[in-house]
Amino acid sequence: MCKTVNLARARGMCAGVDRAIKIVNLALDKYGTDKVYVLHEVVHNKHVVEYLRKKGAHFVDSFEEISSPKDKILIFSAHGVGIETFNKAKELEFKIIDATCPVVSGIHRKMNKAGINGLDAVVIGHKGHQEVVGTVGQYIGDRNKVHVVLTPEDVAQLSIDPDNSFFATQTTLSIDETAITIQALKQKYPSIVGPKDNDTCRATQVRQNAVKQIAAVSDVVIIAGSKNSSNSNRLKEVSESQGIQAYLVDDSSQIDPMWFKDANSVGLSAGASAPEYVIEEILSFLNTLGFITVVECGDELKEKTFPLKEDLI
Ligand code: SF4
Repeated sequence: MCKTVNLARARGMCAGVDRAIKIVNLALDKYGTDKVYVLHEVVHNKHVVEYLRKKGAHFVDSFEEISSPKDKILIFSAHGVGIETFNKAKELEFKIIDATCPVVSGIHRKMNKAGINGLDAVVIGHKGHQEVVGTVGQYIGDRNKVHVVLTPEDVAQLSIDPDNSFFATQTTLSIDETAITIQALKQKYPSIVGPKDNDTCRATQVRQNAVKQIAAVSDVVIIAGSKNSSNSNRLKEVSESQGIQAYLVDDSSQIDPMWFKDANSVGLSAGASAPEYVIEEILSFLNTLGFITVVECGDELKEKTFPLKEDLI
């Protein structure tokens, strides 16, 4: 019997990730391999980071790891950084190149404003994730007024000024779960201001919808993406919330053929930081297991691009 792969049309790299990778590549071309440093992983994908490291980029988690900052290029990752990190880099006289995704930068501007206006701020997201750390760090003012929550239970514990409060969300959360948390927040604080729905980006939304579509017609779902990738983990959870077992893998070397022993169809998608060649490699692997027919499912991916300013690099 011919087995099927249901391949999500809306999958893989988003415009923000593409832009960040281009920035590192251009910086390496312009400044040479001994000068380019990236604070944290530029995007959360093992293959992308390995490729850029091999090309000569240095990935660091602190400024202390970089000697002679004045001669060095420092790139901030797509997840963004807080104000203090930015100012410290300036003080050390790095040449700074900001690869923060423009969607994240938009949220930063709203946080700046919330701080200037003295509002209590609620960030819905995963504590400790680079993007959330950066967003919290963009609050101008007393950081005790910033609270990170994830679930309605967290909202129940909150105590903020009901008449002067603001919320933002991480861009890569589960849309369905975030809606429940925002509902709890608005019920408790009806005057809280924030985005109309949430700050999850369009790239996150279309990829989650596509996984719902492939999960509806598949026995098992595979998501290509790294374990530390927030949006990839959410894609896995979206499938599981539809009752379909899903696995998150960097590539086919992490796939166990036993996952498919009773399966006639496999759904396949990729997180917003996963390169397309990983999908092709997984398709070839699935082919060797008898999953010969590939059916593209769901809506077309109409990805917008984030252009680079000429003087950025
Ligand atoms: S997932 Fe969304 S916010 Fe994150 S880099 Fe991509 S477009 Fe930007």
